Amino acid sequence: MLVAGNWKMNTDVPEGRALADAIAEGLSSTAADRGDVDFLVCPPYVHLPAVREALADVPVAVGAQDMHAQDEGAYTGDVSAPMLSSIGCDAVILGHSERRTYYDETDAEVNAKAQQARAHDLVPIVCVGETLEQRKAGEADTVVRSQVDGALSDVSIDGADELIVAYEPIWAIGTGESAAAEQAQAMHAVIRDDLRERYGGDVADEVPLLYGGSMKPHNAYGLLSQPDIDGGLIGSASLEAESFLGIAEKA
Ligand code: PEP
Repeated sequence: MLVAGNWKMNTDVPEGRALADAIAEGLSSTAADRGDVDFLVCPPYVHLPAVREALADVPVAVGAQDMHAQDEGAYTGDVSAPMLSSIGCDAVILGHSERRTYYDETDAEVNAKAQQARAHDLVPIVCVGETLEQRKAGEADTVVRSQVDGALSDVSIDGADELIVAYEPIWAIGTGESAAAEQAQAMHAVIRDDLRERYGGDVADEVPLLYGGSMKPHNAYGLLSQPDIDGGLIGSASLEAESFLGIAEKA
């Protein structure tokens, strides 16, 4: 199980540091046996060093929310994979629907970034998901499959710990309306099949498939108990240590 938080463009640096401190405190003070739960938080870029430091003594990995596909150059405002690696970043979210929507990011760009992430030892968290219109038109499986294929073409991995895929139906993100557990499981099974064709069963069966879209402590158990849902990518509920750790309790 992997419980991952996407803070998006929220909190200033002191607030982010306080949130990371609260997560560290919650993890180290609780007596609850967390078993096999892994943790990851993805704050804004400028928070990364402070958050990494705050979480140094607890088993929480740190990721970025995006990156550029090139190593360096005249790309004002962008951040590269070598920069992220150099500060000890472990992972990077790629192809989040907000990047696809607001910045017209294409599968080809997500693919270039995923290859670049692997080249610099960052674990790509590839986000896929359909719109409500696509779901209503019966196109959800085809859309998601083609996003997975587009993003992962020529992305080679040596083991299941080098890739994460997050299924985030766009209609469930930030709406308070999560996908039903069975709906999410059905799509995760489609993604798992696709990964099996690409990487073989031994690897694909172990690649963490996260569900994202209004996951909260109250609905986490139903989602996380599905066979192909290996964790959550959590937006708004990751902005409070109590709800983030509350989801981890369900995991
Ligand atoms: C997200 O944007 O990755 C997300 C899952 O957001 P929320 O949990 O707020 O729906």
